[in-house]
Amino acid sequence: MSNYVIPQPAQPSLPVQGSDARFPVRRIYCIGRNYADHAIEMGHDPDKEPPFFFQKNGDNVDSSGEFPYPPQTNDVHFEVEMIVALKSGGANISEADAMQHVFGYGIGLDMTRRDLQGEMKKMGRPWEIGKAFERSAPMGPLVPASQTGHLDSGAISLTVNGEERQKGDLNQMIWKVPEQIAYLSRFYDIAAGDLIMSGTPAGVGPIKKGDVMECRVDGLAPFIVKVV
Ligand code: MN
Repeated sequence: MSNYVIPQPAQPSLPVQGSDARFPVRRIYCIGRNYADHAIEMGHDPDKEPPFFFQKNGDNVDSSGEFPYPPQTNDVHFEVEMIVALKSGGANISEADAMQHVFGYGIGLDMTRRDLQGEMKKMGRPWEIGKAFERSAPMGPLVPASQTGHLDSGAISLTVNGEERQKGDLNQMIWKVPEQIAYLSRFYDIAAGDLIMSGTPAGVGPIKKGDVMECRVDGLAPFIVKVV
C-alpha cells in the first residue's frame, strides 16, 4: 500500500497492560515545573503563572527497562512523571471535556542532560539537546483509565538503588491534568497518540551507569529502569 522513497520509519509505541495491542505514540508534551515544593493545602494556588511546555520526540520513548547513558554529557538527571495518554483530541478543549480524551496512564522518566539544558537556558536557546535525545523517555506500560480510574491523587516516587530520591503526591500538581489538556489544546491540535508528561516532584538528581531507578505511582505497577 505504501509508496515511500525510503523505508517507512517504525511507529513508536508503548505496551498496554493486559493487552497484546500497543498504543501508537505521536507527540510527547512535557510540562515544566508543575509540583509545589510542599503539599498544597487548599488544592489551588491563586498566584500560579501560566504553565509552560516543551516536547520530546515520539521516537524517544523506550519501554525496554534499560537507559543507555547518553553521549555529550556528564550530568544526566532522572525526573519521574505520570504519563497521560490521549485517545482523541482537538483544539480549544474545555477543562470540563478534557478527561474524555484520556486513554490511560503510565509511569515515565523525563531523562535530562542537565548540563546541556543549563547551557541552553543560560544562552536563552531551545532545550532540545538537553531533553529530546535518544531513549530520553523511558516509559512503562500504559493502563487504560477504565481500569485505574482517573489518577489525580496518590504517591509518586523514585528510588535509586533502593534509596528514596523523589517523593510527592499527584495532588500537588500546580496545573491539573484537565487544565494541562485544555491549555495545550489552545496552542496545538492535540490528538490520539499524544502523551503528556505531567511534571516531576522535588528531588531530581544525577544517575550513573549501573544505577537502578524504581519509579512508582499509586495505582500503577512499578517501573524499573537500569542505567547501562
Ligand atoms: Mn520533566
